[in-house]
Amino acid sequence: MAKAEAQEAAANEIISSDPATGREVGRVSVTTPDEVREAVERSRQVFHMWKTTSFAERRRLVMRAREVILDEMEAIAELISAESGKPKGEAIALEIAPVLDLMKWIARSAEKMLRPRRVGIGLFGLLGRSSRVVYHPLGVVAIIPAWNYPFSIPLGEAVMSLMAGNTVVIKPSELTPLTGLKIGEIFKKAGFPKDAVQIVSGAGETGAALVEAAPDKVAFTGSVATGRKIAEVAAKNLTSVVLELGGKDPMIVLADADLEAAANAAVWGAFCNAGQNCASVERLYVHESIAEELTRRIVEKTGKLKLGPGSDPDVSVGPMSSERQIRIVERHVDDFREAGAVILTGGERYDAARERVSDAGTSEGKISASPRQRVSASLFFAPTVITGATNDMRPMQEETFGPTLPICTFATDEEAIALANDTEFGLTASVWTRDIARGRRIAEQIEAGSVCINEHLYTHGIGQTPWGGFKNSGRGRTHGLEGLLELVQPQHIHTNRITLLPDAWWMPYSPTALETFRGFATKFATGSLLKTATLLPQLWKRIKELRRR
Ligand code: NDP
Repeated sequence: MAKAEAQEAAANEIISSDPATGREVGRVSVTTPDEVREAVERSRQVFHMWKTTSFAERRRLVMRAREVILDEMEAIAELISAESGKPKGEAIALEIAPVLDLMKWIARSAEKMLRPRRVGIGLFGLLGRSSRVVYHPLGVVAIIPAWNYPFSIPLGEAVMSLMAGNTVVIKPSELTPLTGLKIGEIFKKAGFPKDAVQIVSGAGETGAALVEAAPDKVAFTGSVATGRKIAEVAAKNLTSVVLELGGKDPMIVLADADLEAAANAAVWGAFCNAGQNCASVERLYVHESIAEELTRRIVEKTGKLKLGPGSDPDVSVGPMSSERQIRIVERHVDDFREAGAVILTGGERYDAARERVSDAGTSEGKISASPRQRVSASLFFAPTVITGATNDMRPMQEETFGPTLPICTFATDEEAIALANDTEFGLTASVWTRDIARGRRIAEQIEAGSVCINEHLYTHGIGQTPWGGFKNSGRGRTHGLEGLLELVQPQHIHTNRITLLPDAWWMPYSPTALETFRGFATKFATGSLLKTATLLPQLWKRIKELRRR
């Protein structure tokens, strides 16, 4: 092949590589902007048929898709692990299991949740009126997820969209394109109509083309910066968006907390998925009286974690996803050092991983460069515990999205709440205490979409509950009733059963009309039956007037 042809071919495909070894996992053709537009058009065609399917039929197909996933669970977990770097066990526990649970729940509940419902309309009911709300699907839902949960997030959003009667186009991250294609394959094997779920592949430009193609909804998961860009482009077509963005999630440990539970949870919350979770513990605030002991336990437990490729069942912490991501972590750790915080353990790339990489038969020069430059031999970053952190240090304000756990102390509940809220983000938070009432009081004062008491991180896996952020962590919700309602448009059907009498507010107007309208404002609008009854003579006068004309 000539050099120019080779370059063109390279531009038209994404090479997916394993961040643990740099080895190629596979290649995927990039979808052109024209093909993206065509995919959206096809999706809209299928939508007109799909929206007429019964809930029973949608349920049957989703349950069939669950079976396909269960049949192929090991291979799917291996693919997720190979592309994202997370341990295979995490792929099963934190992606496959929760999405299977969500699928079952939404398949069984969507019909009930979207059932037409009667709405109380107060005194209008006495005038022979009634109101119902009916839910209609939106059309084409574009799903643009991040790479960190490449299976469960887009699949869960797709299933909720389909159950609501929409069709779906997914643009997976360029770092996890094969997992995206796998999702498409699952729906195909389950027997969904052709093009009801389509996958378009590529980097950010492909995602931008998808938003430009004017879908009826964009469900985006990613950074605040990209979320803003998407909202701007979507606004041109008045496309509504759900934005699931970054976090800087605080864990507050009160003096009466179960220390052992808090220490174990802090380690898991900070280092699971190599810290690349939107709901990761990014800041730990501990009461000053227990700070030393909690820190000691955390450091000890962190020292026992094994790093390595996600395929190894003993490994707890895999590699980071990309060179870009690991550099952010390095910069934040350097910033902490320079600001006077103390790195108790970790704090650098994990060199032992280099040996594993060479054992695997690759070398720095040979590792294939993905569009996000997986060029380094080691994308492993040692789990890092930091003390002496304070909120004025830059990395306490920016999302790190890596395996770092900065610890900060507080003296009072009020101080802990203020420190936790001192951020542009508001995705999740946790409070650790044996006093549940006190925990709830604190939780309600924290500006975050989900706050756990004696738990954290995993509530995205509870599909029945709403997921989304306050402040710059997002707009709208996925999951739960709130998430389902994002995927439909409510229609109000209003009925008048008394057509014999004219409405008092009809034309022509007159002094009698004006007087009646005053009565509407001062009596009817109070909602009081008694006060409205005193309006009846005036109302009758007005109706007689209208009937005469
Ligand atoms: P990005 O914002 O870089 O990318 C997210 C997705 O958007 C990817 O599919 C990306 O494609 C695509 N994309 C990039 N540019 C555009 C564009 N101009 N138009 C349309 N699509 C585009 O996020 P990261 O990949 O860095 O993901 C990490 C972020 O995601 C973190 O901030 C994390 O907190 C957040 N996140 C939030 C979650 C939540 O539920 N709130 C859950 C998980 C992650 P490509 O990757 O191919 O470049």
